[in-house]
Amino acid sequence: MPFTTKQELVEDQADNPPYGTNLTFEHDAYTRIHATSGTTGRRLTCLDTNESWAWFTFCWQEIYRAIGINREDRIFTAFGFGPFVGFWAGYEAAQQIGALAIPGGAQSSEQRLYWLMEARATVLLSTPTYALRLIEIARENNIDLRTSAIRNTIHAGEPGANVASIRAQIESAWSARCWDHAGMSEVGAWGYQCRDDQGLHLLESEFIAEVLSVDTGEPVGEGETGELILTNLGRLAMPALRYRTGDVVQWVSTPCTCGSPSIRFPGGILGRVDPSPRRQHLPERGRVDHPRSARGRRVSVEISKERGMWELHLDLEVAPGADSEAIRAGVAEALGNQLGMRAYHVVGLIALRNNELERAEGYFRQAIDRDPTFSEAYFNLGKIALQRDELERAVELFDKAVELAPDYKEALYRLGFTHRFLGNEAAAAAALARFEALSRQEASSR
Ligand SMILES: [Zn+2]
Repeated sequence: MPFTTKQELVEDQADNPPYGTNLTFEHDAYTRIHATSGTTGRRLTCLDTNESWAWFTFCWQEIYRAIGINREDRIFTAFGFGPFVGFWAGYEAAQQIGALAIPGGAQSSEQRLYWLMEARATVLLSTPTYALRLIEIARENNIDLRTSAIRNTIHAGEPGANVASIRAQIESAWSARCWDHAGMSEVGAWGYQCRDDQGLHLLESEFIAEVLSVDTGEPVGEGETGELILTNLGRLAMPALRYRTGDVVQWVSTPCTCGSPSIRFPGGILGRVDPSPRRQHLPERGRVDHPRSARGRRVSVEISKERGMWELHLDLEVAPGADSEAIRAGVAEALGNQLGMRAYHVVGLIALRNNELERAEGYFRQAIDRDPTFSEAYFNLGKIALQRDELERAVELFDKAVELAPDYKEALYRLGFTHRFLGNEAAAAAALARFEALSRQEASSR
């Protein structure tokens, strides 16, 4: 049986719009539609019939049970009312296991936090970034999250919860156990983290897993690593057969200390076999040496990919007598801020393009945390405020962008029009006059 790849599904939907041909029923049999956020390429739409959807949420129920969440729990889903499948499945499965399902969308982060505290929610379902964002909001509002009833946090929608430092931050601030959700819109929720931290367990009653060598495509032996290939058994209306996840895992079948009988992937997802053309120009591992840098000192930069995350190692030779520890700390901080700021800004733009305002806002705020003079991030926050009809707020943000970058044409333009909507004619005229002057200058210098 041939493999299925994400690219094939995406291309099929492009060639046979809007839903492609991987559907086993007539269109009118389908009752649910979800879509991936499109962060790693084009948006992929997934359709379900009632029967297929029941299976999808059943997998989520199984995962709740496996990690010890039950009808006593109150599950707060901090996702918007959008096409992301994880919100819907997590929310409905919460209800199905008899827990209280709390819809945490369409509120400000402050409102969300107060409601979560008031409802004595025991489980937070969110992206890892948003769990971190709530930690900041709590700090700003002098709320100690350890006094909340949250004891488990489950993270879907983006990677991060499997990164030790992010997990540690979430666990200590929330005084909760942090779980990374293993699932994909096009395949389903296929696994769960071991309670004894022995890696990920496969939901073996619902999925067939193969682990194939990345080099030869042959099945690898127990204890060896390869690409995880999944076949789902219950999504009859849009099946995934021999789906190439692109995730690299190691598999073992020996009984686990947690009591789960299913096969296990120690260390979880160890990395990616990344066929995405956008990334192909980036080497998996690379090293650049500059034996003669500007000041005659040696510099070498090495990038590598560890457990799916990029790492950058920088070797610097410092002048004799220099405080190498202070230089190390300064360079690490500056680089971390610059790279982090750019990275957050880019993912923020992607989220904004997908109309995921909450997520985009979180990312732009993270970018500003790293560089408070980052005018573009303020500008984009202003655009979000406009979309929410928060005109006064939008003016503040565009103002801030213009204050930081006085020649920021786009910001001036939006500032002018937002003032005009608010009836502040004088302020509108001033901003638009400045915008026009800059435009004329630009035209004459061309
Ligand atoms: Zn286990």
